[in-house]
Amino acid sequence: MSDDCIFCAIVAGDIPSRTVYEDDDVLAFLDANPLSPGHTLVIPKAHHERLNDLDGDLAGRVLATLHDLVPAVEGAVDAPASTVAFNNGPEAGQEVPHVHGHIVPRFADDDGGPIHAAMGTRPDLNDEELDDVAASIRDGR
Ligand code: AMP
Ligand code: ZN
Repeated sequence: MSDDCIFCAIVAGDIPSRTVYEDDDVLAFLDANPLSPGHTLVIPKAHHERLNDLDGDLAGRVLATLHDLVPAVEGAVDAPASTVAFNNGPEAGQEVPHVHGHIVPRFADDDGGPIHAAMGTRPDLNDEELDDVAASIRDGR
């Protein structure tokens, strides 16, 4: 629990939320400023800022809850699709520093784009640079 964290306050019951799922480790509730009807957030109850800070077991519980809720969220608002994503760190647009996965129901005529639209220009990486990045990722696990 972090004293000045709005999502910890929701977990503690000090701030109301429209809860859609809860167990010992995970809470899911409607986003207060939804990007589309049904926009849902899934959080670990324990305070961790980023995905990087979760152990594998808790990360698995968060992902399992996302997996479980996606069909229910889509079904509740009759959405044919959804964008499921984490803004992982402030430079990626994370505003609430308590890790949360978004389920954003999507519709054919909504004004949104794919996750690729989050980026502007794309880097022009040659084969050697791509090989180096792949090797660094393999080594960094
Ligand atoms: P992010 O930019 O990924 O950190 O997203 C934070 C999300 O939390 C935004 O979509 C906000 O609308 C949502 N949010 C902030 N405060 C609350 C709250 N009290 N209850 C529900 N959702 C909230
Ligand atoms: Zn928190």
